Amino acid sequence: MYPLPEQLNYASYRMAKANYIRVLIDRAIHRELDYLVPETLAERVGVGSRIRVPFRDKSALATVVAILEHSEAQGLRPIEAVVGDAPALSEQLLELARWISVYYCCPIEAVMRSLLPQVIRRAEIGWKKQLFVLPTRKIDKEEIEKLQRRAPRQAELLEAISRLEAPVRAADLLRQTSLDNQTLRALVKRGLAEMREEAVVRDPHGDEQFIATSNLVLNAEQLLALKEITQALDSPESARPILLHGVTGSGKTEIYLQAIRAALEHGRSAIVLVPEISLTPQTVERLKGRFAEAQDAVAVLHSHLSEGERHDEWHKIHSGRARIVIGPRSAVFAPLKKLGLIVVDEEHENTYKQEEAPRYNARDVAVVRARIEKCVVVLGSATPSLESYHNGVRGKYRLATLSQRIDEKQMPLMRIVDLRQERRKEKAIAILSEKLRAAIADRLDKGEQTILFLNRRGFSTSLLCSDCGEARNCPNCSVALTFHRRVARLSCHLCGHTAAVPKKCPACGKDALIYAGFGTEKVESTVAHIFPKATVRRMDADSMTRKEAYRETLRNFRTGKIDILVGTQMIAKGLHFPNVTLVGIINADLALHLPDFRAGERTFQLLTQVAGRAGRGETPGEVFVQTYTPFSPSIQFARHHDFAGYFEQELEFRGRCDFPPFTHAVLITVRSAHEGRAKLSAETLVRRLKESFGAEFILGDATPAPLEKLQGQFRFHILIRGEAIMRLSRLVRETLDKLPFPEDVTVTIDVDPYQLL
Ligand SMILES: [Zn+2]
Ligand SMILES: [Zn+2]
Repeated sequence: MYPLPEQLNYASYRMAKANYIRVLIDRAIHRELDYLVPETLAERVGVGSRIRVPFRDKSALATVVAILEHSEAQGLRPIEAVVGDAPALSEQLLELARWISVYYCCPIEAVMRSLLPQVIRRAEIGWKKQLFVLPTRKIDKEEIEKLQRRAPRQAELLEAISRLEAPVRAADLLRQTSLDNQTLRALVKRGLAEMREEAVVRDPHGDEQFIATSNLVLNAEQLLALKEITQALDSPESARPILLHGVTGSGKTEIYLQAIRAALEHGRSAIVLVPEISLTPQTVERLKGRFAEAQDAVAVLHSHLSEGERHDEWHKIHSGRARIVIGPRSAVFAPLKKLGLIVVDEEHENTYKQEEAPRYNARDVAVVRARIEKCVVVLGSATPSLESYHNGVRGKYRLATLSQRIDEKQMPLMRIVDLRQERRKEKAIAILSEKLRAAIADRLDKGEQTILFLNRRGFSTSLLCSDCGEARNCPNCSVALTFHRRVARLSCHLCGHTAAVPKKCPACGKDALIYAGFGTEKVESTVAHIFPKATVRRMDADSMTRKEAYRETLRNFRTGKIDILVGTQMIAKGLHFPNVTLVGIINADLALHLPDFRAGERTFQLLTQVAGRAGRGETPGEVFVQTYTPFSPSIQFARHHDFAGYFEQELEFRGRCDFPPFTHAVLITVRSAHEGRAKLSAETLVRRLKESFGAEFILGDATPAPLEKLQGQFRFHILIRGEAIMRLSRLVRETLDKLPFPEDVTVTIDVDPYQLL
């Protein structure tokens, strides 16, 4: 849990018909300004309203953050206009924005940009209007017959209109009758039909059918977990966050669905956060199916919506029509009224962390929002983050555990393949070990499906000169370029730079270039080569560029049209395929050797999650983990499905080194195209921080970041750790505000960072 900032409690302000208001202008000026409200507008302005105000010599958009009795400010100017109807933000969401701004060391204006979608902030797009047709009065047969002689087409259309029981879209009617607009207008002119403009909702899932489902029977463990949540819903004021730790395939989703039903029955609303946009369709389907009695009740918020759809979905939520919201991290800001429940699925996922300002973690924001709104929050995962599980063990969170798969299905059998031995046998780096190859062949014989996982895209991960040893690096970043065979180009996965493949080594001029390392593209082609009769598909960011490609591939895999699916973490999460009985992890070591204190945790989570895709149907699953480090703890604990064992040893390591969850970390990155200036600025900053900190915080030196150069910028890191995070955030902010940096030096602050590269 997190301390709240000691700030003005804006919730105490009412929507008074006062003359003075305090506003936050959209542009970052780091302060709030007072304005006058003209009497004509007073009734329409409340806390959270969007307004237009004069600012310097222009006009600007702003949010009302307080209604004031009086103002000390001189020369106040009146506001110009109110944008939209009811206040866009509730007082609770404003309080949340303030918390994020203080905790994550981020200007509140930037937080507001995350809170309100641009289409709502600017209010330039409205509802989509369409023409509807209805008869002006009851039309009898004679009238139609009379018209038949003079204007047969009009008569035909009138016949159709006379049968309407409710207004229909003009375009639909004309399409169905194959008649034209002119004919319709003629009828309107005769006073027989009426056209009316009405708002239509741009529903992102409007053309899909959802099959209604009903509650599944829960087992004893599931019932206990659900009871934990429903009891919290009965007295949300005193409820602690609930951590639902359930092994893969233990039926967490069914608990979420029944908990949401309970929240709705309490007259409350619910948010479901999913770690990735690609998982939204699957969750939408489940929710719309379960809550099919009111299709409008479920709204979706994510960045793939069109502006119009986003406008409509947001207003559906804001007006109270939608009571369940699904989406990735930004859906945590959904403007629901009477919020009762927030579910954070796969709470350990790093995608909940936003990697640009405000660098918030939606899971932690969900916990704080739940506290502000006095609602229940459920964090679910098969592999909870160390932070959350630690909170569970300490009693800050309530821990609910599902230790069994539903229907008594077995956990998959994990086999470790030592690649060092394979290498001795094969004298080359094998992509598929002999054992994995045999297992795939066996599944193909039986008509069962296989998933092959590798957390690296592309064909070859580097292009080396075998003579002088030079690698082709990105000119902007300190990483090697990856070869992509389909497009026959080299590309940088960090900045997107691409280059042609040179014929000769640009460094020494010799014809000695070789490809080294491999990614998913090469796994796909190797597998297709070994098993020419199998249908192999790849699922990663390169192959899934089209919007529908993902759904299409998943559908084909589900219906058995694909035998082997090769992919990156895109296929690791939350997917449920009953016919998958084999999972091959091509190289388990990729995440293990990153210079990051979470490397072990990530490896354990990834292995457990990917392995969890196997054996979810009738036949038990088998997993092959290929690795060069078979005895590393993360791999061994994952092999034995031993979360508790892994947690204990990882916690011990974190404690010894004062890493989270025992401390909070703050990562400051100083970057510039000029290496010397970046370095000097970072060193100066460390000196100043030393002066303002006591021994309370652990302050590291300014060091070159593991990824020294990114997008043409040299990067230096300063890592600070400490327990009192609010104090630490404040001190960092104050120190930075007092320091003048050269213009070409950028400083970013990341509180509770996930990426230490
Ligand atoms: Zn060379
Ligand atoms: Zn690059």
